[in-house]
Amino acid sequence: MLKRLIIPVLLAVVMLLGGCSLSSEKPSDGKLRVVTTIFPAYDFARQVFGNTADVTLLLKPGTESHSYDPSARDIVKIDSCDLFIYNGGESDAWVENILKSADEVNALRMMDAVEALTEDHEGIAETEHEEHDKDEEYDEHIWTSPKNAALIVESIRQAAVTLAPENKALYENAAEEYIAEINALDIKFNELLSGEERCFIFGDRFPLLYFFRESGLNYRAAFPGCGSETEPSAQTVAFLTEKLTESDTVPTVFCIELSNRKLAETLADENGLPVAEFHTCHNITADDFSAGESYVSLMERNYQMLQSALTNGG
Ligand SMILES: [Zn+2]
Repeated sequence: MLKRLIIPVLLAVVMLLGGCSLSSEKPSDGKLRVVTTIFPAYDFARQVFGNTADVTLLLKPGTESHSYDPSARDIVKIDSCDLFIYNGGESDAWVENILKSADEVNALRMMDAVEALTEDHEGIAETEHEEHDKDEEYDEHIWTSPKNAALIVESIRQAAVTLAPENKALYENAAEEYIAEINALDIKFNELLSGEERCFIFGDRFPLLYFFRESGLNYRAAFPGCGSETEPSAQTVAFLTEKLTESDTVPTVFCIELSNRKLAETLADENGLPVAEFHTCHNITADDFSAGESYVSLMERNYQMLQSALTNGG
C-alpha cells in the first residue's frame, strides 16, 4: 500500500528536478544503459550486451527481493535508460506504477517470454489449509527452469538487436553461446533427475516450481516461494517430518539462498540428515556477486549439490 503512494510522489519529484541533478551518471563512452530489477535479468542482459552496455542491478546483492523499494535515484535510472528489464510478478508490482507514470521507458517483461504457471498450493504446507481466490496468481520464478532461461535470453537478444542493430552479429553470437551453455545444463539435469520417483523436502520457501515441474520431480515445502517467511506451524513441521521418513524421499533437507535455515536445520537435526542449499538465482550474496557468479555457474553449483544429495541417498 505504502509503495503505491510513494512512487507517484518520487516520480513527481524526479520530474520537477528534470532528472538533471540526479542523472549526472550518464556515461560519456557511448555505451547503452540497461537497468534490471533482479539477478537473472542482470545476468542474462550482461551476457547478451557484453561490453556494449552498462548493465545495472537495482536489487542490491544480499538483500531480500520481496521487500525491495525503489529509491528516487533508481527511478531516475529507469526513466533514463535505453532498456529496462523486469520480471513482472507479484514482487514487481511497483514497476507497473512506474511504467504507467513514465511512458517512454523501453521495457522488457521477462514473464512475457515464457508460459507462466499458476502458484502451487498443494505441495506447500503453509498454504494447504488456507482459502484461495478463484483468481489464481501466477508464480513469478520463471527463470528456475533452464528452458525458460533460454527463452528469456532469446527475448533479450531480440530487444538488443532492435536497440542497436549495428551490433546484431555480436548479440546473436553472445546469446547463442549462453543458450548453448544453458541447454547443456538442462541436459545434465535431465540425466541426473530422470528415472525413479523421488521426493525433495524443502524446510524453507519454495520458489522452484518451474524447475521441479519441468523435471517431473515431487517436492514438499514449508512456505510459498514469495511469502514473507513466518514461523512454521506445528502442522507444517509434522507434515514435513512425516514425509522425511518415507522411502522415496531424498535423505537431505533443502533450503534456499539467503535463508535463515532455522526450519531446515531443525528438521535435519531431528532426523539425522544433512542440509543442502538449492540456489534459486533469485537473489545473490555480495560475495558471489563480486566473484562474478552467473546463472549458469550457480545452476552448475546446484547440479553438484543434487548429485551428492542423490548419491548420499544411495
Ligand atoms: Zn520471489
